[in-house]
Amino acid sequence: MAKKQNKKPELDEKMDVKCKDRECPFHGNLKTHGRIFKGIVVSKHDKRIAVEMERMVYVKKYERYSKKKTKIHARLPRCVDKDVKIGNWVKVKECRPLSKIIHFVFLEKIKNGDEEK
Ligand SMILES: [Zn+2]
Repeated sequence: MAKKQNKKPELDEKMDVKCKDRECPFHGNLKTHGRIFKGIVVSKHDKRIAVEMERMVYVKKYERYSKKKTKIHARLPRCVDKDVKIGNWVKVKECRPLSKIIHFVFLEKIKNGDEEK
C-alpha cells in the first residue's frame, strides 16, 4: 500500500504542473501551426502579450526599403506568465483565433533584452 501511495502523487505533479489552462500549447490542447515570429514584448496583460517586430517593406517609388513595425497580440499561458516581462525577446506561433485580436500563442523566450528590470 505504501508504495502505491507514493507513486500516485508523483504522477499528479507531472500532470498538472500548476497549469490547468486548456489554451496552453504545452499542457492544454491548443494546436499551433503556421508562421513563427520573433519580436519584443511591448505590453503585457492578463493572459495576453503584445509583441512588436520590425519588417522591411520595399517602396517602389524610391527603390528603397523602409522599416515598418507590426504588432501582434499573443496568448500568454499561465505557466509562463512569470517568465515573460516587457522588453523580452520572444517567439510566437500562429494558432487558431482565440479571440478577436489573438491568433498567436507564446512559444518560447529567446533572451531577456536590455530593458529588463
Ligand atoms: Zn501550461
